[in-house]
This record gives sequence, C-alpha cells and structure tokens, in this order.
Amino acid sequence: MPVEEFDVVVAGGGPAGSTVATLVAMQGHRVLLLEKETFPRYQIGESLLPSTVHGVCRMLGVSDELAAAGFPVKRGGTFRWGARPEPWTFSFAVSPLMNGPTSFAYQVERARFDEILLRNAQRKGVDVREGCSVTGVIEGDERITGVRYTDPDGGEHEVSARFVVDASGNKSRLYSQVGGVRNYSEFFRSLALFGYFENGKRLPEPYSGNILSVAFDSGWFWYIPLSDTMTSVGAVVRREMAEKIQGDREKALQALIAECPLISDYLADARRITTGRYGELRVRKDYSYHQTSYWRPGMILVGDAACFVDPVFSSGVHLATYSALLAARSINSVLAEDLDEKTALSEFEARYRREYGVFYEFLVSFYQMNVNEESYFWQAKKVTNNKHTEIESFVELIGGVSSGEAALATAGRIAERSAEFAAAVDQMAASADGNMVPMYKSEVVKQVMQEGGQVQMKAVLGADAEPELPLFPGGLVVSPDGMKWLPYRPA
Ligand code: FAD
Repeated sequence: MPVEEFDVVVAGGGPAGSTVATLVAMQGHRVLLLEKETFPRYQIGESLLPSTVHGVCRMLGVSDELAAAGFPVKRGGTFRWGARPEPWTFSFAVSPLMNGPTSFAYQVERARFDEILLRNAQRKGVDVREGCSVTGVIEGDERITGVRYTDPDGGEHEVSARFVVDASGNKSRLYSQVGGVRNYSEFFRSLALFGYFENGKRLPEPYSGNILSVAFDSGWFWYIPLSDTMTSVGAVVRREMAEKIQGDREKALQALIAECPLISDYLADARRITTGRYGELRVRKDYSYHQTSYWRPGMILVGDAACFVDPVFSSGVHLATYSALLAARSINSVLAEDLDEKTALSEFEARYRREYGVFYEFLVSFYQMNVNEESYFWQAKKVTNNKHTEIESFVELIGGVSSGEAALATAGRIAERSAEFAAAVDQMAASADGNMVPMYKSEVVKQVMQEGGQVQMKAVLGADAEPELPLFPGGLVVSPDGMKWLPYRPA
C-alpha cells in the first residue's frame, strides 16, 4: 500500500494537538491527527485561564460553542494561602483589558472541552483518527519524515509528513525522539491525589465559579466547581509527605481533607462520586519537567510533551494551547515558503521557553509566599546569577512576560491598554480593601497579568492591532491575522 502523505501529522488530540492541527488546517494544509483514545476521554486540568478561552479558542472559532456548553464561569481565584488566615479573592475584571466580555475563564470537564476542540479540528479539515496510537517516528536524512501508528484493529501503518508534532502529553515516550533530555524540576516535586464530589458548598456569588486553593500543612487543595453540583477536589502533597497518599486512596483522601478545615467545611454535606468516569481516585506524580530541545528538523514538541510546571495557577492548558499557536505559526510560515525551518522554529522555541520560564519562576515565587515575599526576588537572582538587584533580576528574567503577543514597549492600543491595566493594578495594590491580594504588590505579578491580557487583545482587535516589535533581538513578529510569523521591518 502506498504511504499516505500529509503536510503535518499530529500525535495526540488533547488541547495542544487539536489547536496546532486546526490552526494549520485553517491555512489550507493537509493535517492528520492521530489520537490513541476514543473521545470523550478523561483528563485532569479543569481550570482554564482567560487567555486560552478568549485568545486561542477565539482564533480556533469555538467561542460560541464554549459559551453554549454551560461550563461554570470562573471570574478569578480564591486563596487561603500565605500568612493571611482568611481566604482572599482576586478577579480577572481588575484588568481593563479583560474588563467586560473577557473577564472570565471556564472550569471545564476536560472530556467535554477536549472533545469540542477535537470535533472543531475535524470541521476545519483535519483528518482525525481516534483509537490510533503513534508507535514511533520515521527518520530520513537528518530529519523526521513521518510516523508509524497502529489502528484500532491492530493494523500497522506509516505516514509521511513535512512536520511531525508530538502533542501526546506526559505519558507517551515519543518526545525522546526530538533529542535532548527531559529535566525534572527539583522544586516542584509534589504528588496529587484527586477525585470528584457531589453537593459540595459553593463560594458566595459572584465568585461561585472561582477555583478555591487552600494551603494546609501537607500541601494544598484545589476545589473546582465543574457544575452546579459536581466539584473536582485534589490534594497536592509535598514530596516529603508522600507516604500520606500511599495505600488506600479513599482513606488517604479523607485523612487529608480532615487536615484542612476549610475543605472539610466545604465538603461537609458532600458525597464522593464512586462510579463512572469520575468514580476513580487518581494519583499523579513526576509531572514537572521540561525538555532540553523542543524541536529538531521535521519534529516539534507542544504542550505536556515538552513541559509542564505545576497545577497551581492553572497554567497547563494555557501552555499547551499557547505553544500550539506558536508552533502553528512556524509551520504555516515554512509551508507557505515565507521562512526557513530554522528561523521559524527558533522563534517558536524562544517564545515557548520564555513562557515556560515565566510561569516556572512565577509559581516558585507563589509557593514561597508561604515563607515571605522577598524570596520571589532572591530566587530570581539565584537562577539568573544576575548582577542587578534581586527584584530587577526577577523582572528581567521574565522580560516581556507570559504570552508575549506584543512587546511591552509597543506604542499604540495594546500598550495603551496595558498601561491602563498597570495603573489599575497599582491602584489595587495601594488600596486598603480587605480583599486586596498581596501578590498585586509584586512587579512580577503585575507584568504576568499585563502580558497575559495581550493575547486576548490580539484576538479581539485582530487585524486592527498595532504592529508589534520582535520579542528578541533579530526575532520575528506576528502576522496581522495571528497565523504566521513575519520578518520585522521597522517603519
Ligand atoms: P493531554 O491533555 O495529555 O493530551 C494528550 C493526548 O495524546 C491524549 O488525548 C492522549 O490519549 C494522546 N496520546 C498519548 N499518547 C499517544 C500516542 N502514542 N499516539 C496518539 N495519541 C496519544 N492544567 C490547567 O490548565 N488547569 C488545571 O487546573 C490543571 N490541573 C492539573 C492538575 C494536575 C494534578 C496535573 C498533573 C496537571 C494539571 N493541569 C492543569 C495540566 C494539564 O493536565 C495539562 O497541561 C494539559 O492536559 C496538557 O494538554 P496536552 O494537549 O499537552 O496533553
């Protein structure tokens, strides 16, 4: 049988795989997506960020479908964290960028969310084959030229493609074919034990859809409303407390809940779901790592295949969909013969690494709020070995921060709105409001939030957005439609 040929083959149909496949197919290229499972399938990672919902999902064309799905609206986060004994809340609406129609995200059952993205990929022209497991890559002369896969009947196939994208998450071993090594974090070495409950309490309105994160002696809990009655509850336990989640999982979870008065209270009248998709108590560990190479000629890693930081602050699906957007721009530029592979994929890797690094540093700091806020900056100085002050080191480390859709210095609407946003955060940090979030005092958080909104601005303004500056010296800029890279040409 002749070998099938595609422009791009994507392994994995999670958010990363569906996103890259759709954005490449939307440019008229031939894309095959191979997914091991048959959707809908279970996955953890239920709390989304606004930049995924209003940035990438808008580009994918699923905003209306998401709105119609009835997912709980997440207006922000509520934390019992750090020195303050009472819970404190932050709202996305603090940002003028998100003030109004984009000041929220969703809490999603991933089985439903991921299926929406996968079916959308099919509608946009991606050849989606479920029950098909990629078993290896094919190497040609100094590049990856395709994959081998097994179909649901056990039949073995080979397909060839200009690009293979590994979006197969953190359990598959395909990533190793890109070369380099997977570095596990020394800092984020926790374990998670999680399950689902009916009839847990809700936070007071308008924050009933917020994620509630509660620190306690052994680690912290997430408490995520997934419907009016169902709640996802997970304990993230520090490595040195690992024995607490060994043995009987039911007993272990109950014991951890008993250690945490706020979660005990919220679950006082709740019943654990013990049947169906949500009936199992699951454990995850060794999830924090990054790969030293994100691409080689013909092959690209996106989402968890490349890196993941930590469950706190819900960065996983954001990194998955954002890296997929970056990869799609690079692939689209090469397939259109606008750029050579090395130039296009170097931009992908540089932006992705920066995004990962920003979240890594930010989350390290966030954990260290338990100790004291100054350790934010000390950590950055240590990591960068920078000669400047600790706070400057931290801010320089993250540079333009987060999603980086527009350079911080850009004149025009995005920068203007960013400045408004910075002023609003400053105002909040200075206010005596009892709910004031201590982290808004941090330059780091301000910049992360500021740039996080820029992906959304880009999506909202589309072709009307002001031209951007490159994020790196000699780097590329985003095309007006957001689908490719362009060489930077100063006016
Ligand atoms: P996945 O969602 O894992 O999708 C990969 C797909 O590839 C799967 O469908 C799989 O079946 C398929 N596949 C695997 N191997 C093959 C193969 N050989 N061939 C074909 N297909 C294959 N993120 C958040 O944003 N918010 C949260 O609240 C959050 N909480 C988390 C809590 C915990 C405890 C953990 C560990 C993670 C959490 N995350 C969270 C992270 C989130 O789960 C991931 O970052 C996200 O799912 C990554 O998406 P992905 O598309 O890269 O991979």
